[in-house]
Amino acid sequence: MDSLSNLIALVPAPPGAAIYRRAGDESERIELRDARALFEGGDVLVAHAAFVAGRLGTRASVMLFDLLELFAFVRPGMPFVPSALGLARALGLPLPHTPEESAAALPAIARALLAEVSSWPQAVRETLAPLVGTLERAGWRWAPLLKEIVGDVPHGSPIAGLEAWRGLPPWEDEAPVGQPGSQTVEPAEARARLQQLVGVMRPEQGAYVDAATYAFGPREQAGAPKVALVEAGTGTGKTLGYLAPASLWAEKNGPGLWISTYTRNLQRQLVQEIAHLWPDPIERAEKAVVRKGRENYLCLLNFEEAAKRTALAPGQRSVALALVARWISSHTDGDLSGVGFPAFLAAYMPLSTVTDRRGECIYAACPHYRICFIERAIRRARHASIVVANHALVIAQASSDWLGEDETTDTPPEKEEGRRLRYVFDEGHHLFDAADSGFAASLSGREMAELRRWIRGPEGRARSRMRGLEERLKDLIADDETAQEAMEEAVQAASALAGEGWTQRLGTNPRGPGEVFLTAAYAHVRARSRDEAYYSLEAEPQPLGQDLLTAVDALARGLKRIAEPLARLARLLRKKMDDKSANLEPYTRARLEAAARGLDRRAKAILPAWIQMLETLAHGEVPDEFVDWFEIVREDGRDADVGLERHWIDPTQPLAAAVLAPAHGALITSATLRDSGGNDDHWASAEVRTGAGHLAQPARRAHFGSPFKYEDQARIFIVGDLPRRDPAALAAAYRELFLASGGGALGLFTAVRALKETATRIGEPLAAAGLTLYAQHLDRLDTGALVDLFRAEENACLLGTDALRDGVDVPGRSLRLVVFDKVPWPKPTILHKARRARFGKGYDDLITRFRLKQAFGRLIRGPEDRGCFVILEGATPSRLLTAFPEKAPVKRCGLAEAIGDIREFLGEGTVTPAPAPLITG
Ligand code: SF4
Repeated sequence: MDSLSNLIALVPAPPGAAIYRRAGDESERIELRDARALFEGGDVLVAHAAFVAGRLGTRASVMLFDLLELFAFVRPGMPFVPSALGLARALGLPLPHTPEESAAALPAIARALLAEVSSWPQAVRETLAPLVGTLERAGWRWAPLLKEIVGDVPHGSPIAGLEAWRGLPPWEDEAPVGQPGSQTVEPAEARARLQQLVGVMRPEQGAYVDAATYAFGPREQAGAPKVALVEAGTGTGKTLGYLAPASLWAEKNGPGLWISTYTRNLQRQLVQEIAHLWPDPIERAEKAVVRKGRENYLCLLNFEEAAKRTALAPGQRSVALALVARWISSHTDGDLSGVGFPAFLAAYMPLSTVTDRRGECIYAACPHYRICFIERAIRRARHASIVVANHALVIAQASSDWLGEDETTDTPPEKEEGRRLRYVFDEGHHLFDAADSGFAASLSGREMAELRRWIRGPEGRARSRMRGLEERLKDLIADDETAQEAMEEAVQAASALAGEGWTQRLGTNPRGPGEVFLTAAYAHVRARSRDEAYYSLEAEPQPLGQDLLTAVDALARGLKRIAEPLARLARLLRKKMDDKSANLEPYTRARLEAAARGLDRRAKAILPAWIQMLETLAHGEVPDEFVDWFEIVREDGRDADVGLERHWIDPTQPLAAAVLAPAHGALITSATLRDSGGNDDHWASAEVRTGAGHLAQPARRAHFGSPFKYEDQARIFIVGDLPRRDPAALAAAYRELFLASGGGALGLFTAVRALKETATRIGEPLAAAGLTLYAQHLDRLDTGALVDLFRAEENACLLGTDALRDGVDVPGRSLRLVVFDKVPWPKPTILHKARRARFGKGYDDLITRFRLKQAFGRLIRGPEDRGCFVILEGATPSRLLTAFPEKAPVKRCGLAEAIGDIREFLGEGTVTPAPAPLITG
């Protein structure tokens, strides 16, 4: 550990400087270029190398002493906020609040972690020796220090210690649970259950339970579920309010209840609330299961192959894999988006390389099948009283039910069908958006390349474990010439699809009908749209130019040539299962079943949808319920994808048909379900946004106001004197507002450019006042990590765009000010314009009011919270202000007055305003 004393702790001090501290010395402020040179030298101690690199304007290309990595090694699977503050909190050390304090804290954190390893029994330390050896060969900076503690490192296999799957227990199958029952849940018993859970029940919470219980009654007519639309203001206590009848329903009727949220945040909160129902963790793990889409889980086979490929190569990627191995061994459920996964590793290794990418799983043919995380999660969910999922997964599964698919190999669809009989959709206001993405179709370069890989396997220099049809099926159809012919035909025909590297050939050297189509589509969009550096481009399809028309026709013919042999091959595999049913090994049957379903999905769902899009496009006859457009997708200012998009104008039509109508009951609940605009029927908007209006039986409705005293807890300001087009003035306004609140501020922007300009201008004055600024699009972190950092500090400020409006859930003082740069009108995209034409001219207002409601809802999360909400646009129409709670005071005023009021209201007189002029330009 002595070597620690030679290290320099380095902490960025935004903007344009860093804090440097050598053991035993005082902290020093150094120039950015010196900090960069130190960082690039590698002998520095940091917390979160990728974040520090971003702040210093360099890349984390050398390995250094990153404390996040050491923490992930020592405490695998334990959640922590990825910063010096977060690490100190997780370890129970004094909390650093300034860059200087952070620089002093880093060595203390390192010592605490290394001391923890030293305190482990000898036998435990010895088991880690092989992994430390592998990490040492990978060049991990912490390995020599750990080696001193764990002892001699044996020379074993190159991936010694990485075989974390070896200790995983196999899952066990259980007998099918059968259909859920239809026993009634009475409101009185649901209230009694709630009483048990909360002790003292408020009258409105009791009334909420009564309203929610309706959705758990027996269905009286096929296709007519009991749907309750229940809006309950923040603070009503709706989560326990619906868990009370939901748990009773599950006790009486067996598995079949899914609770779905839109955000991960709420999913995590829900899991915490479920602890009230089943305090014993073992019972809870059995009764309540979190389910996510396959792409969220670690695929052990991909992990093993990635480990074998990279283990001999020194580098950060090998280190990342070793730390994932530690995480696997920490009794994880395999969820890479869960709280215990060290998400910062994504900076060194695309997580998609170790997840189950689409269509890649080989199910029972996989050596890890019996310990597979995904298979385990699916099986656990079948027997759980409550499954906690998200809207996207529920919608994807319902669509699969339509197609007669199942996710696993060994459960025929008919067994699964009908299981999800009851739903609770929390954050129900997001159902429209979830359905919009879930039921959309995209014929793009990425999608075509994905299907081509699924059929033909990796081509050219692509390195992937993914195998084509031939590899996956050859032993299954070795004795069947007809099936082999169908397969060869499909493989041949798939050359019509865009292939690996299509983006480089676009426009210059397209190969096959798919790439010719993409080239023509790209030219079409560029010709018909205005160039924009940051945003995707789109164009209406009609009128089609001759080149595009010819390309559309050729691709449609090419796709038909693929679909036909795929469907034939699926039929032949099913025939084989029938013919040989008496002698087939369960393992072979499972593989045949999985292969046939995969083929059917492509031949009967994906390809026909694409062919229909092309044919209707060629004839200029897009069905009334859809809207089509061509799009060039831009990511970080570069063209990332091109294609033809098709969305439902009203995606709640398929939502109602595929998800709600087959269920027996559904509670759709949210704090913002209804619009509060001009006309009196506020429920009409809730019916439109949830699909309840398409059902045979009308939904039952109830509304409960928030118990919070918004007249005392909130202030809303519409600032009318800001020259918003002047970036300096806009930035100055944000700066002064953030200083007035003393931080705890979220700045929301409608445009990335304005966000970046503002972040660059206000970082320094905020830092001078002791306020840390985080910014989406500038800090190299995903939104989840940014929100975690923001939440961890009471006085931090965060700038972001739309994605942050719903993702931020920060109760208490850490969020006390929300500032919008302007009215968040919906962008008039082709899709939005089609919806405006369908739903009427009030549609823009409705969407905008929902956005304001949701953003305001972030501010006041508890009875003690106080918060201010600012819109920096004086022209904000009064009709939008009904988005805010009736009693929340709204003031139209100048910026200076708003700043004074905010300072007084939030009681923050301590922050010294920066000397820059209040309004410039
Ligand atoms: S069964 Fe599929 S998802 Fe699971 S480890 Fe094997 S290949 Fe991966």
